Amino acid sequence: MQTDHIIAKVGDVLIGGGNPIVVQTMCNTHTSDEKATVAQCKRLYEAGAEIIRITVPGMADVQHIKGIKSALEAYGIHIPIVADIHFSSATAIAVAPFVEKVRINPGNFHKDHDEAVARFRELIHVCKEHGTAVRIGVNHGSLGEYITNLYGNTPEAMAKAAMEWLGVCIEESFFNVVVSLKSSNTVVMVSAYRCLSAMMEEEGHVFPLHVGVTEAGGGIGGRIKSCVGISTLLSQGIGDTVRVSLTEDPEAEIPVARYLEARYDHKIVSSLTSLRITGKEAVANYQSPSFETLLFDVSCDFGKRLLDREIDSLTLTGEYLDDEGVPVSIKDSGKGSYLVDELMQACRRRFYRPEYIACPGCGRTMYDLQAALARVMEKTSHLKDTVIAVMGCIVNGPGEMADADWGYVGEGGGKVSIYKGKDPVLRHIPESEAPDRLLELIEGKTSI
Ligand code: SF4
Repeated sequence: MQTDHIIAKVGDVLIGGGNPIVVQTMCNTHTSDEKATVAQCKRLYEAGAEIIRITVPGMADVQHIKGIKSALEAYGIHIPIVADIHFSSATAIAVAPFVEKVRINPGNFHKDHDEAVARFRELIHVCKEHGTAVRIGVNHGSLGEYITNLYGNTPEAMAKAAMEWLGVCIEESFFNVVVSLKSSNTVVMVSAYRCLSAMMEEEGHVFPLHVGVTEAGGGIGGRIKSCVGISTLLSQGIGDTVRVSLTEDPEAEIPVARYLEARYDHKIVSSLTSLRITGKEAVANYQSPSFETLLFDVSCDFGKRLLDREIDSLTLTGEYLDDEGVPVSIKDSGKGSYLVDELMQACRRRFYRPEYIACPGCGRTMYDLQAALARVMEKTSHLKDTVIAVMGCIVNGPGEMADADWGYVGEGGGKVSIYKGKDPVLRHIPESEAPDRLLELIEGKTSI
């Protein structure tokens, strides 16, 4: 059978079919604050974002999206805007004529599957009429009952869910579509995209893929986790557009995404100068122009090998240049063993600290997410073998934190809810007390 490699058109940006990898990100401002959102879009555009996503929590925000777009046009910024929709097909349909792409999970449109399909078809008709692209975003944390009843809660189930929705698009002859299958677990995420890629090849329609590790957290750990998941896929030709999702200002995501784009569009090479692999032990030497480059290079050079269990251990040698341009020994400074610990954790090969899942925040965020994550990490960093999720909103946070043993979720109004698995165990806790209460629960000092 002949395979059709589909190209999505998002404004003037082409995704898929061998086009260059596209870098995108998402605003974390409140959409109703048009001024702040426009200012952030400008900064993201100047930093190198090629597509920007903005949340549309409700109907009232459709007008704000229109306002934001026209303000950007007035500045001469013609960057495609993606409307991020949760649950409401009516909001998706209302905003579709005014944006270049709509991001939805059609499975969340309605509990009844047939009704969800009907609403998705309605959206497709509007998008077709207005030349709007669609991203079908299936997340591991929120697969929905229909899919988990049929296929379980597995990477394969995520791929099958996406294939069902792509089937509807094919029936409607609608091909302006991009797909994502995100998880905060790199093993699940890589496996899901590999499954979907193989299924699409077999079926004959290869839709463009938006790749990313969702809720990767922040700092060095978040960057390594994102690089591991995304580079593993890009290195085998899976992925057409990337979003690095960090619990930081979205501007900080762009250099990581640009590195991945440049590396897998073959514009740059690794600073790895030699590699010896004996059995499953790798020893690698680097001459890196900065610590950041070293971090990116190591994650991309060894993430896939560790995920696929081609190697079991890694030793880093060589040098990187510090901010003053002075060479630093990777081994003697301890940076090498620290990077390897983080890499092992990101690849889920060895856990030396708690696993933190944290959403990047968006216009729905109910509190200072970065500060909340920092406080939770400070209180719990001595623990092991536990997965803690720090999420920005009570509407989507609990549904999205798959795999987490504990959840710490912003309610708004200075209050936090604490979850054990998917169950809320403490509600309305003042933010100032919440990290201590979480620790007491984890250590069993408070009974539930
Ligand atoms: S969980 Fe985080 S990223 Fe997701 S909708 Fe809520 S605030 Fe936004």
